Amino acid sequence: MPINVSPIAGLDPSINDLRLRTAAFINAEILPVEAELYPSLRGWFETDEERERARRRSIALREEIKAKVNEAGLWAPHLPQEYGGMGLDFLALAYMYEILAYALGASSLFGIMAPNSGNASVLVKYGTEEQKQKWLLPLVDGTMESGFSMTEPEVAGSNPRAIRTEAVRDGDHWILNGHKWFTSNGIDANFFIVQAKATDPTGELGVQGQITSLIVPTDLAGVKIVRGIGIWGRSESDHCEVVYENVKVPLENTLGLAGQGHQAAQDRLGAGRVFHCMNSVGMMWRAFDLMVERTLTREVHGGLQKDMQFIQGFIADSYMDIQSSRLMTIDAAAKVANGDPGVRTAISGIKVFVPNAFHRVVDRAIQVWGGAGVTNDLPLAAMYLGARTLRLADGPDEVHKILIAKNVIRQYERGGSWDFGS
Ligand SMILES: Cc1cc2nc3c(=O)[nH]c(=O)nc-3n(C[C@H](O)[C@H](O)[C@H](O)COP(=O)(O)OP(=O)(O)OC[C@H]3O[C@@H](n4cnc5c(N)ncnc54)[C@H](O)[C@@H]3O)c2cc1C
Repeated sequence: MPINVSPIAGLDPSINDLRLRTAAFINAEILPVEAELYPSLRGWFETDEERERARRRSIALREEIKAKVNEAGLWAPHLPQEYGGMGLDFLALAYMYEILAYALGASSLFGIMAPNSGNASVLVKYGTEEQKQKWLLPLVDGTMESGFSMTEPEVAGSNPRAIRTEAVRDGDHWILNGHKWFTSNGIDANFFIVQAKATDPTGELGVQGQITSLIVPTDLAGVKIVRGIGIWGRSESDHCEVVYENVKVPLENTLGLAGQGHQAAQDRLGAGRVFHCMNSVGMMWRAFDLMVERTLTREVHGGLQKDMQFIQGFIADSYMDIQSSRLMTIDAAAKVANGDPGVRTAISGIKVFVPNAFHRVVDRAIQVWGGAGVTNDLPLAAMYLGARTLRLADGPDEVHKILIAKNVIRQYERGGSWDFGS
């Protein structure tokens, strides 16, 4: 079923136009060939030749679609025009992402691929001109891959200040030592943006253990990929465990100022959380369409599902979950775009609410589809795992709830109260 998008009253005409063009592209170019894009999900092939043919066809198809995305002027919407992107503002991006996410994995065909996209945005904001030439441009044109290496097995990833990885200045290099895991895209990455506590014994750079972001090429001596960690029952993934052992990182690979790394990570994660939520809305929308469509034709125990009140409850609850998620996320995106001081609370609110709503909606869609719901014939199983993971990644629910509560309580302690209208 195609995504049903019409202009939103009162919305900037250029954003309406963008949504309609994106939806038309998804409906015409991606949904009809979606199954061919992911032959590995199909699993069953009669012969090895058939499997290989399907694999080659999917690679060729991806390139064809990317070329059409470029022609349609929809490539890399998150990047400034000078770096080959569309130069969209934050709100326009959020409105585009909900449409893109309707088709499984479509965003990568539009040049938006985590963690590359987040790293590219950090390079745009903090990189020197030289770093942009060397690392950003190849990321944009797809000749390089990257990862973001912050979380460590020994300390709580939910507290980014707890990292133990160290970088100590030695002449014109940092000597980097540390142990990370869940560095996504680690197998293919040409460089990582590594979060480390930096110390400069000379005092020139003014850091004694402050968090600093370093661009670390993966072919430097001492960068060791220990494994691609198996997750969700799969034996391996591209979420990597990495050891950095006396890695000599040139000082010129410092991203932003030494000591600015925590802020850079927060910038990256803050924007990323809004995009994750808008993507979740797009996927919920798809799950909802699949669910409702099925209820119109599936007969169970003497009647169509659509006439059973349990099922009507699924539809109504999912409608409310999607509407509330969507409006909360657009509100948070508008707060980011306007530089609203309440933005941290709004972002934490969506980061808890939306992945949980996403989880509930997909869960109901799977239930309606019965056994078919957990097969690879539908995108629901992949969505379900994604929704569950999102409750941990980029900050677990509990940490965001604590932040919301603290911000609210602070307001009342100061003698004020909460203004839900702003
Ligand atoms: C698929 C996947 C991909 C990822 N990709 C990346 C990546 O590319 N780069 C990267 O650096 N990291 C990545 N991560 C790591 C992710 O960001 C962390 O898993 C996350 O921040 C949580 O950290 P942790 O796993 O150390 O859990 P912990 O910090 O140990 O927290 C465990 C649990 O403790 C509870 N908890 C934590 N704090 C509190 C509190 N104050 N009060 C009450 N309860 C609390 C929560 O329930 C939480 O789920 C990825 C993770 C996954 C699963």
